Amino acid sequence: MSEFALCALCPRLCRPACPVVTGSHRTAAVPAMLAAALLEWERGNVSPEVAAQAATLCTDCGACEEWCHLHRPLPRLLREARAQLLPDPLVEALRPMEGEGDIVVVESDGRPMAEALSRRLGKPVRRWFTADKLGVAAVEHVDWALKAAAIRATLADAEMVVVADGGVARALEAAEVPFKWLHEVVPDLAEGLGSCATGGGDLPLACCGAGGPLHQHHPDEARRVGKAWLERASTHKVLDARCRNHLLACGGIEVTDPLDALLEEAG
Ligand code: SF4
Ligand code: SF4
Repeated sequence: MSEFALCALCPRLCRPACPVVTGSHRTAAVPAMLAAALLEWERGNVSPEVAAQAATLCTDCGACEEWCHLHRPLPRLLREARAQLLPDPLVEALRPMEGEGDIVVVESDGRPMAEALSRRLGKPVRRWFTADKLGVAAVEHVDWALKAAAIRATLADAEMVVVADGGVARALEAAEVPFKWLHEVVPDLAEGLGSCATGGGDLPLACCGAGGPLHQHHPDEARRVGKAWLERASTHKVLDARCRNHLLACGGIEVTDPLDALLEEAG
């Protein structure tokens, strides 16, 4: 029996947990509907294009599995389907590291985190810039093993790797590289709502729409999810720079993260 069968027959029990459904109000995004579309694709009744549309209506937040009384691994099944349905994404080559020090700071959005953290800790840190979040779009694809090995080799002599962005965090997890969040290294900056990447996203704010394939393949839906998040959230302080940047693009005017706080105190 297909692994999608149980979810496809489910009376949509995890629907309230899915941020794409609650944010976009699209019936097609209900986890059970995604599973039904992929079951029909496996049976040859639905085209790969339609199946890919369904498999990408997801932020990979994991909320459905957590909510499910059977803990069905739907997020993993969707990842596996995407690996079959989508072409390998183009990712940039890893860039050289700059500076020196035992700590490596991975910068990803143009804000000078390495410089600010170095000043705060009173010691030199290395800066590693990535324009595509260390190629996170490729983590579900077969060539990821090569990229992961290159990331591990580049960071082999780092005493600590520091991140602020959920996409970078996801890439490091997939490369099996330990890391710390900026707000863990500087705990007095740890003020704000968590994300699916920081492990602190609570329903119905489990994901703001910035993560997973939704952002890339369904940008309009991702914006709807972000706007719904902004309306529901009790504060617009967030712990994850990926959420901060997405929510600002969704019209949030006072969304800040720990890196904003660090840069502000640095003047
Ligand atoms: S994850 Fe669980 S609750 Fe959600 S559709 Fe599948 S079986 Fe139903
Ligand atoms: S992983 Fe998250 S976004 Fe994807 S179907 Fe499950 S609840 Fe929805």
